[in-house]
Amino acid sequence: MRYSGFRLFSEGMTGNRGWRPVWRDPEPKPEYDVIIIGGGGHGLATAYYLAREHGLRNVAVLEKGYLGGGNVGRNTTIVRANYFLPGNSEFYSHSLKLWEGLAQELNFNVMHSQRGLINLFHSDGQRDAFARRGNAMINQGDDAILLDREGVREILPYLDFDNARFPIHGGLYHPRGGTARHDAVAWGYARGADARGVDLVQNCEVTGIDISNGRVTGVQTTRGAIRARKVGIVVAGRSGQVAAMAGMRLPIESHILQAFVTEGLKPVIDHVVSFGMGHFYISQSDKGGLVFGGDLDFHASYAQRGNLPMAEHVMEAGMALMPMIGKARVLRSWGGIMDMTPDGSPIIDRTAIEGLHVNCGWCYGGFKAVPGSGFSFAHLLATGRHHAPAARFRLDRFARGDLIDEEGTGSQHNLH
Ligand SMILES: Cc1cc2nc3c(=O)[nH]c(=O)nc-3n(C[C@H](O)[C@H](O)[C@H](O)COP(=O)(O)OP(=O)(O)OC[C@H]3O[C@@H](n4cnc5c(N)ncnc54)[C@H](O)[C@@H]3O)c2cc1C
Repeated sequence: MRYSGFRLFSEGMTGNRGWRPVWRDPEPKPEYDVIIIGGGGHGLATAYYLAREHGLRNVAVLEKGYLGGGNVGRNTTIVRANYFLPGNSEFYSHSLKLWEGLAQELNFNVMHSQRGLINLFHSDGQRDAFARRGNAMINQGDDAILLDREGVREILPYLDFDNARFPIHGGLYHPRGGTARHDAVAWGYARGADARGVDLVQNCEVTGIDISNGRVTGVQTTRGAIRARKVGIVVAGRSGQVAAMAGMRLPIESHILQAFVTEGLKPVIDHVVSFGMGHFYISQSDKGGLVFGGDLDFHASYAQRGNLPMAEHVMEAGMALMPMIGKARVLRSWGGIMDMTPDGSPIIDRTAIEGLHVNCGWCYGGFKAVPGSGFSFAHLLATGRHHAPAARFRLDRFARGDLIDEEGTGSQHNLH
């Protein structure tokens, strides 16, 4: 069923009786070529590209809850390609290019809005660091403009430029950065994968991984055993737990990240803005709510709700940056479970167990990575070779000391 303006119109004229469920609800088969554990953004995108790019259709996505109920439906939806280090730079650049054609590719409105992202700086040292980052982005073929204070004022006149502690000196502007609708991305990939024959099995928790002679042979689930030649673990915050089922210990800690949404307001913020002197970033959703968030809660947890100290920090940082925000009422807040690696960069790799692969460690930045990650992981699963833009996301880089430490915060990324 293709979606189009004409389809909307004709359904509207005939009582909306022609819409069909967007994906099937299949019983799991006894055996698949590939099983993807986890029906979040990355798992669904992987399944889609396995079918679309490599013609693999005997594929199942096993999801313990409902599709999109994890972080993919809980994030603050920022999409950008403003990374500095080799490894990250080419990967996120590729992912952003996939975003730019995604609505047409999936025939599903993912509401990708390239409204521009501005990272503010508040000191000469920060300006120099952002100038270097901007140059790296331009070298990668992406867009970056270094704005001085007046340049930022022209675009974001509502900020407190003269805050006594954190005066704004300028910002790094990334015009192609922006937001997307998180649920729509999960639904769009799910619909595309289902249409190509992938089984999306909800309410199916993986409880064990079957291994024989060093090779994965299938999984145990709450809906019975299922055999498979290849298995991909794509469970974000639960990566450590699921990998442990195969006897593996991943370099991952799970931490909470919170988000906040205010009541709906008339349009006031038409960019994504991030504060440089505290943990706070903000955008406005199409429904009018101000959507903002901060940093991790700084203790390992599997809870999907946050704690007050970080909520307080985020509100204070917001007030320092844009005092007008104090008039808005926060309606909702929630948390998601982040799979934090020591260097803050992800892992897309095979494991020592033949046929068993991992895609994890997306930390708090995996939403923008969904198309690129799905594309690269599908490539690895189907061909056995690393896809070039993701080739540095190796599991053994932690043993080799070849870290991709984007923030330069050392080996305990989650503690800085
Ligand atoms: C508050 C917040 C703000 C964020 N903001 C941004 C942002 O602005 N930009 C950005 O790029 N990223 C952001 N992120 C990060 C991003 O959301 C995550 O990195 C990304 O969604 C993780 O990948 P996923 O979508 O596949 O994860 P998930 O949606 O969590 O998918 C994993 C799935 O695995 C399933 N699962 C777990 N265990 C099992 C099992 N045993 N059997 C079967 N299924 C299982 C889970 O139920 C879940 O559905 C944010 C995250 C949060 C929480």
